[in-house]
Amino acid sequence: MSTAEVALATPDQVAKYEPVIGLEVHCQLATNTKIFCGCPTSFGEDPNSNTCPVCLGLPGALPVLSRQAVELGVQGSLALHCEINPISVFARKNYFYPDLPKGYQISQYDQPLAEHGWVDVQVDGATKRIRVTRVHMEDDAGKSSHEGFRDSEKFSYVDLNRAGTPLIEIVSEPDMRSAEEAYAYLTEVKQAMQFIEVSTCDMEKGQLRCDANVSVRIKGAEKLGTKVEIKNLNSFRHVKLGIEYEILRQIALLESGQRVRQQTRLFNVDSGETTLMRDKEEAADYRYFPEPDLLPLVVTEEWKSELQARMPELPADRRSRFIHEYGLREYDAQVLTLTRPMADYYERAAKASSDPRTTANWVMGDLAGMLNGAGKSIEESPIPAEHIGELVGLIASGELSGKLAKDIFTKMYAEGLSAKTIMDRDGLRQISDTGAIEKIIDEVLAANPKQVEQYKGGKPTVIGFLVGQVMKASKGQANPGAVNEMMKAKLDS
Ligand code: ADP
Ligand code: ZN
Ligand code: MG
Repeated sequence: MSTAEVALATPDQVAKYEPVIGLEVHCQLATNTKIFCGCPTSFGEDPNSNTCPVCLGLPGALPVLSRQAVELGVQGSLALHCEINPISVFARKNYFYPDLPKGYQISQYDQPLAEHGWVDVQVDGATKRIRVTRVHMEDDAGKSSHEGFRDSEKFSYVDLNRAGTPLIEIVSEPDMRSAEEAYAYLTEVKQAMQFIEVSTCDMEKGQLRCDANVSVRIKGAEKLGTKVEIKNLNSFRHVKLGIEYEILRQIALLESGQRVRQQTRLFNVDSGETTLMRDKEEAADYRYFPEPDLLPLVVTEEWKSELQARMPELPADRRSRFIHEYGLREYDAQVLTLTRPMADYYERAAKASSDPRTTANWVMGDLAGMLNGAGKSIEESPIPAEHIGELVGLIASGELSGKLAKDIFTKMYAEGLSAKTIMDRDGLRQISDTGAIEKIIDEVLAANPKQVEQYKGGKPTVIGFLVGQVMKASKGQANPGAVNEMMKAKLDS
């Protein structure tokens, strides 16, 4: 069902405008307990079982700030190259919602945890820097679900297990100019948070949520257009689709002489459209004021340095290190740093081999292919990283031909054994010993006099057949290069 309010803009119209996008990303911090109480943050428990007077918002209950939440918040901010404010202040953001029992959210307002960061993204082969305005900490609300609304009986349920879960909100500057850039930014932010284990960022579990602010302006104009905020973007794909739709809608409005109204709109998954949720509320509507039950948050230089020192290497840094240290191509480095487990696996394999580039090919090619086929992640690989390294080393030293290595790899995957173990057990080893190869060649030539005659009579292509016979007689273990060379020398002599 499609009920577009306006016809969408045509390509000619689109060409006149420049989209402007800023994202607000909520990331659930990977703490064991909630931000202001000791309740567990475990997912999928019985409704309202992970609750206490604090997160139920009972009168008189007092919040106590989680140290772990602050530490993850600081590390997440550092990963986005933000400056950490030595003092930040929690504030009450007042609004009513059935799943917000306190009647306010504890957030940060004019003194956030961190500011002035950036994220570099790659789009169309170019690097673009997107500025991060601020990162602030806040507690999450609970969850409402509605049932039976088409029947006469209607039920709404409130589950407060999520209420009080720690979040950071990452607000970008309006620096993005296309849905692709927004997608790339989101990917980069997610990857960074996962890499340093600040958040697992599972979108299906709501651990990563994104609101997109979109406006358009005539190309070359300085003033920003009126923005619309899109909510309900539950996947990266929806973020992209929602932004793309909104750009077309706004341009069509302007082209037909109307104006864009500042609104909050919802992305509709079924129609691919955005629909009006409400006219935008202003900050004043929330009546922000400093949270009287919490002291200002002080992050000393010392604490910050300690957290910085404890932080794992960031994906972008690891990417460039892979390029310089292991001589990988940009693309390979990109693929191998998509997730931390993948990067760790590759690095262990590369260290165990003498040839990091070939190791990269095995990990990204044969191994990734097998894992994909089986629906397995790299963490579930039946082949330990060190075994890949050993395999690559055996090829480099000439003990294994490429063909043998492939066969052995299949066995390694199936049996979880090392290449050496399989070679010893199955008597597989590349024969590079010229004496041994010569012996087989002589036998093959003696057994195939007709083909030898044809070769000498001017039919050089039969050499392929003869080499094939040698490979067969050696059970694929003869070094094919050596066989070719020696066979030719013998026939031509
Ligand atoms: P609000 O006060 O409405 O929350 P903010 O200034 O805090 O607005 O910005 C919220 C988000 O909207 C930020 O990510 C910012 O980059 C983005 N934004 C602000 N103005 C625009 C605009 N004209 N077009 C697109 N995005 C914008
Ligand atoms: Zn609680
Ligand atoms: Mg704002």
